[in-house]
Amino acid sequence: AEEALRHAQKMDALGQLTGGIAHDFNNLLTAITGNLELLNARIDGDDRDGLRAHTTNAKAAAARAAALTQRLLAFARRQPLRPDETEPGTLIRGMEELLGRTVGEQVSIRTEAPPGIWPAWCDANQLEIALLNLVVNARDAMPDGGRITITAANARLTEAELTHGGQPGDYVRLSVSDTGSGMAPDIIARAFDPFFTTKPIGQGTGLGLSQVYGFVSQSNGVVRIESLPGRGTTVHLFLPRSEKGRLEQAGEPVVAATIEA
Ligand code: ADP
Repeated sequence: AEEALRHAQKMDALGQLTGGIAHDFNNLLTAITGNLELLNARIDGDDRDGLRAHTTNAKAAAARAAALTQRLLAFARRQPLRPDETEPGTLIRGMEELLGRTVGEQVSIRTEAPPGIWPAWCDANQLEIALLNLVVNARDAMPDGGRITITAANARLTEAELTHGGQPGDYVRLSVSDTGSGMAPDIIARAFDPFFTTKPIGQGTGLGLSQVYGFVSQSNGVVRIESLPGRGTTVHLFLPRSEKGRLEQAGEPVVAATIEA
């Protein structure tokens, strides 16, 4: 649990630093873009088209950089969560179409949510973002295609299983499995660090799993990676079972006290 706390503090500090840099950077990009536009308007003479090609390329690069700073700002600005009772089966089925489009044709994706899954207590929007991040990672780990499975299940975590912290109790487990490259232990150890990425520049930001980690730990949940290099990876999100439903389900008041004369 202490390690988790240190990690959370590190994430916070990085979030603030990132937010500051992204904000300043964005202002600088605005200045660069503005000047390129002015330059573009003034270009004259024989090689006008040739020169404009350069300003157009520079503007496109600035636009890409601006899109990156937007993502950094979104990460730094992590809004407070709005947890509510969330039906995992409904949520993952509702994402099928979006996820299918995200992974492309080489990758098949299916969801499995048997009846009787408990409702979870978490921010449904953030959970969708987390699942999307996991599915994008799964897709990227399978350049030659493969299978992604998203499953929902009830899970009871005991003290003995919670070696890295977390409260024992009832959880809803959402797991994203892929048949991709897998992750070596030293990659798993760093995977949740903000900005840690093994992807080429421009493809990875290293913020996907940071969002997942931030969301799950703020929801009082637990996240786990299981991976076999060369075989594939499963990321499990354990989100607390909603207490609300349980109290309502309990129905009749329970008489717990006996009166002694
Ligand atoms: P990004 O996807 O931008 O690199 P993430 O924080 O989401 O950032 O992931 C960090 C790194 O963890 C990835 O660059 C990759 O090396 C590794 N990783 C994450 N998910 C998987 C996966 N499903 N299979 C293999 N490697 C993964």
